[in-house]
Amino acid sequence: MTSRIYYTDPYCRRFDASVTKAFLHDGRPAVVLDRTAFYPTSGGQPFDTGKLVEANGAGAASGAGGASEAGRASEAGEDVGERRGPYGSAIDVVDTVDLDGDVIHVLSEPVHEGAAVRGEVDWGRRFDHMQQHTGQHILSAAFDRLFDNRTVGFHLGAETSTIDLLREMSWAQIARAEHEANSIIWEDREVSVRFVTSEHASALPLRKEPSREGTLRLIEVKDFDLSACGGTHVSRTGAIGSVVVAAAEKFKGGTRVTFACGSRAVRAFQSLRDAVGGSVRLLSVLPNELPASIERMQAETKDLRRTLKRFQEALASHEAARLIGASELGQGPVLLMVEGLDGWDASGLKAIATHITAQASAVVALFSKAPPHAVVIARSPGVPLDAAAVLGVLTERFGGRGGGKADLAQGGGLGGDLSAILATTRELLENRPFSLS
Ligand SMILES: [Zn+2]
Repeated sequence: MTSRIYYTDPYCRRFDASVTKAFLHDGRPAVVLDRTAFYPTSGGQPFDTGKLVEANGAGAASGAGGASEAGRASEAGEDVGERRGPYGSAIDVVDTVDLDGDVIHVLSEPVHEGAAVRGEVDWGRRFDHMQQHTGQHILSAAFDRLFDNRTVGFHLGAETSTIDLLREMSWAQIARAEHEANSIIWEDREVSVRFVTSEHASALPLRKEPSREGTLRLIEVKDFDLSACGGTHVSRTGAIGSVVVAAAEKFKGGTRVTFACGSRAVRAFQSLRDAVGGSVRLLSVLPNELPASIERMQAETKDLRRTLKRFQEALASHEAARLIGASELGQGPVLLMVEGLDGWDASGLKAIATHITAQASAVVALFSKAPPHAVVIARSPGVPLDAAAVLGVLTERFGGRGGGKADLAQGGGLGGDLSAILATTRELLENRPFSLS
């Protein structure tokens, strides 16, 4: 059994210990120490990382008193990663796992069994976890006290953290709980740890029924929350800074609340500030005018699209009449090839083609001017031609994609020289190998 320093001293970041077991864990070098300040993944809180340094030779480690005076390294405040002299170079602790009562430290390099080591927890990572985790206790307690809504799940992620509430909450209720939690944080209340038997605990007003028997570790936020937890927490609520709810969504009949505390809350604000700042500069409005401004723009765009469509339709009819007028009318259906129509998108080309095939007996092929080329192949009713088959040959030869029916097919993304595309199309249409029987 590893003695867990973080149970009683969550602020210990440097410690001395000895290696009681050295082995491979999932193919990677790993050790068990007689005592550790490294937190293994459990209870929704991720593992600690950091460094281990092996003492060079027996003298250094025993001279420092080994495990018995282990508190000294913590007080000395030395940085293990920089330390030389009697100690070797630092080895990375890349993962920490809880297994059958032991804390397993997964390492970047092996360390010998029996070695004296000094450990240093990556404090930036750990303190962030302490802020999020203690903030979670307080936010969960706020939902519990204000709305009698229990927390049934907790996840502390690398970017965001979530709590899952049993029942649904409105945004107004969430805002009230958020406000309550921040009030408790700003009162800088004491957060204390104590150990009790499960019988003793059953008589206490715990927020949640403990799921285990034996000795329980209780975390108390003074006069606000009492719950059994094995994680690491800050010693006063003020260290959390603040808690903000970033999002809320329906989840399994309840609500999943995404929140951020401490430096994460600051980062969330900075990221929003950048996004909102960019938007208000572009729109020349105040931040609180953004939603109304976007709504107005969306309505304007919708109107413009409608107007544009009407104009395009009218113009397509004129363009169709002009093209028919310019063509040579002879025996049978007229073949209209128009290359490089300017300013017409795919739906415009389609509108022109539809007008032509309605106004004259014709086979028509229209191409956009700019590459990659859009194309519309159409024919009047009764003309024996499969437009979709013609388009199929074109996309096969010049790339792009498209499809349609026998009377009208439409494609885009045709590459290569427009005159080569035109020559191929003319040949296909004049020879009519795709006649409908
Ligand atoms: Zn906790």
